[in-house]
Amino acid sequence: MSAHNNGNHQLEEVEVSHSAPDNGGRPSFADVYMGFAYQIAERSTCHRLNVGTVITSTDYRKVFAVGYNGNASGLHNHCDSDTPGSCGCLHSEENGVINCDAPRHYEKFVFVTHLPCRMCAKRLINLGGVKRVYYAEDYRLRDSIELFAEVGIAVEHLPLKRNPAEQALFRLAEIAYQHEVVAGEGNPLGEPTQSDPEWVSRRVSQWLAETR
Ligand SMILES: [Zn+2]
Ligand SMILES: [Zn+2]
Repeated sequence: MSAHNNGNHQLEEVEVSHSAPDNGGRPSFADVYMGFAYQIAERSTCHRLNVGTVITSTDYRKVFAVGYNGNASGLHNHCDSDTPGSCGCLHSEENGVINCDAPRHYEKFVFVTHLPCRMCAKRLINLGGVKRVYYAEDYRLRDSIELFAEVGIAVEHLPLKRNPAEQALFRLAEIAYQHEVVAGEGNPLGEPTQSDPEWVSRRVSQWLAETR
């Protein structure tokens, strides 16, 4: 089989331009699926952070599974506890893995709104066939990156391409962070500090929920 007619030829072409719009100005597949990860995250019932996962084929033609964080199906639709790190919600990647019935040998890409935690990295490793994990927002714990590297899974930062209205909302949330968190803690110099992405996206979710 020549390099030009095996199934991977098209993949290589797509991968090169994964995050840039093509000549027709259309969004790339990677951007579309990252946007999908954010949309599915809107179904999250976790009060701490809304996270979404989309697992696709590596030619971007199929969605194998989606997941978002929340309590188990049929249980109450909120966290078990407000304690950070033990809210009791299943993670979005965990639900994505549970929902994924594609065979292990199928090559997969994973799109996650936030960098996976250490345990979800292990779950994605054991799903089998994961070639690359795209994440949009950093998570405070970054040790999953080393785990993925150890087993040869590529990790790529792919920020969500937001429309201008959404960008404005996030900017407002960053300003709100300065007022509510930094000012609230009595920052003596009133110096701007880098905002906390988790706090900002949680605040934007709250605003959006209030306008629904
Ligand atoms: Zn939760
Ligand atoms: Zn996790």
